[in-house]
Amino acid sequence: MSHIKGIGASSGIAIAKAYRMEAPDLSYDKKDIDSPEQEVKRFQDAIETSKGELEKIKDHALKTLGEEKAEIFSAHLLVLSDPELLQPIQDKIKSENVNAEAALDETANMFIDLFKNMDNEYMRERAADIQDVTKRVMAHLLNVTFPDPALIDEKVVIVAEDLTPSDTAQLNKEFVQGFTTDIGGRTSHSAIMARSLEIPAVVGTKEVTETINQNDMVIVDGIDGDVIVNPSDEQIEEYKQKQADFEKQKQEWAKLKDESTKTADGQHVELVANIGTPDDVDGVHGNGGEGVGLYRTEFLYMGKSQLPTEEEQFEAYKAVLESMGSDKPVVVRTLDIGGDKELEYLDLPDEMNPFLGYRAIRLCLERDDIFRTQLRALLRASVYGNLKIMFPMIATLGEFRQAKSLLEEEKANLKSEGTEVSDSIEVGMMVEIPATAVIAKQFAKEVDFFSIGTNDLIQYTMAADRMNERVSYLYQPYNPAILNLINNVIEAAHAEGKWAGMCGEMAGDEIAIPILLGLGLDEFSMSATSILPARTQILSLSKEEMASYKDEILAKDTSEEVVEFVKEKTGQK
Ligand code: PEP
Ligand code: MG
Repeated sequence: MSHIKGIGASSGIAIAKAYRMEAPDLSYDKKDIDSPEQEVKRFQDAIETSKGELEKIKDHALKTLGEEKAEIFSAHLLVLSDPELLQPIQDKIKSENVNAEAALDETANMFIDLFKNMDNEYMRERAADIQDVTKRVMAHLLNVTFPDPALIDEKVVIVAEDLTPSDTAQLNKEFVQGFTTDIGGRTSHSAIMARSLEIPAVVGTKEVTETINQNDMVIVDGIDGDVIVNPSDEQIEEYKQKQADFEKQKQEWAKLKDESTKTADGQHVELVANIGTPDDVDGVHGNGGEGVGLYRTEFLYMGKSQLPTEEEQFEAYKAVLESMGSDKPVVVRTLDIGGDKELEYLDLPDEMNPFLGYRAIRLCLERDDIFRTQLRALLRASVYGNLKIMFPMIATLGEFRQAKSLLEEEKANLKSEGTEVSDSIEVGMMVEIPATAVIAKQFAKEVDFFSIGTNDLIQYTMAADRMNERVSYLYQPYNPAILNLINNVIEAAHAEGKWAGMCGEMAGDEIAIPILLGLGLDEFSMSATSILPARTQILSLSKEEMASYKDEILAKDTSEEVVEFVKEKTGQK
């Protein structure tokens, strides 16, 4: 038995066999071969096996992820049937007497380089398809396992160095009981997705891939951030009990599903949810969300091989708005790609510091073709509900003005085409770059609302990468530096008669909630599963009392002092 400590990223307990997801080692030696015929046969067998797997994945994707995602695998299957790629590889084996690995790698790379540099989006996408498919065929030639989360068909706990957000999106909840990773923090996007999928997760353990073997029995305790490897029978019993207690607790919370969120002194605050896809709205309703405070639209752009069309986006936004109805607000954030959310098909150059790089609104203002398509889809969908739009990663007022004027332009275009657009769309911004929190007063005159993105605001204020578990101790939501910035934003909003919300993970944190209530935050947006525990807590707190502690809290010296003070005043353990 071994016990590994990590960061509890998604609540719940999972008990199952380990399924290791690791990128296989695809290095090979280039060799002369004796029998080209046999080698060609070996190559053809690898192609057939890969095709069989891709067929299965495609069927699975069709059932669970929809037609559009399944198309990626149809494109991969086409590559594996394309004589223009396969023939030159077989010719090379025969004419140069080299092994299939070398012939495959060299030929595929030649096509990839050729297509990648073409000024044609379709061909660039083909380059990405060839790259993906080649890896699978290579793995078969080398006899190494190529992990496919979509093909898992028994109950497992996934063990990986890291999971990309699109890996996470592919996990099938029926079989994947939980996951644990070496790297990552509470605010990495795979952790955020785990919460919306309600899959227990422990991240940032530094060592699970080193310690856990395939099929080891594993307990993932996402509540306390523990991973137990090969537990004793008593431990399994103990955690089964903890699992049952957690389920019971969830049932208690569920009783408040249809209640409004009022403090003990009768003040209403808005408790809304963060979502990543239209499917997540079920979780919002199921957990009693009063709307959507952050729709991370980038997931519409991920896990596919090309940009989503205006029509696809329109359908997604419309579905969310309609499902929430005319009074529940839906705050949609425009494309926030970059950092740990990549779009391979955009083929952007690698950067030294992706979190400080060409991303989000910076990219959208330059690639206004991409941005305008999204804005048009949003504007068209606006008549189906209560839409609010916000821009991510705003650093300067100039950026906000530019983004807003593109929105106004597209609105005018649509109207002149005779398309109906709502006239009451509020337009706000995320406050996640310290520069904007410091001069929130200036921004407040021009925005309709602020939504504080503490995941990034904390990373940028503390200069600590949110993905790096070594500096995760600097993720300090209660640090007085952060609290003073937040206070500045809320005061600036209120002085202009605007509202201020928060959509970073901090909004659902039980130490932060009393503080934020006292600072006057109007809207709390969080993973849907945090809503009911947050509502339970808020019902018992007096906003007036919390507000009376405001100055004292803001004047504290350290995060620890703030925590101690809040615990003392609220009686939390
Ligand atoms: C944030 O930065 O707090 C936020 C909500 O956005 P994301 O986590 O998607 O960066
Ligand atoms: Mg952010």
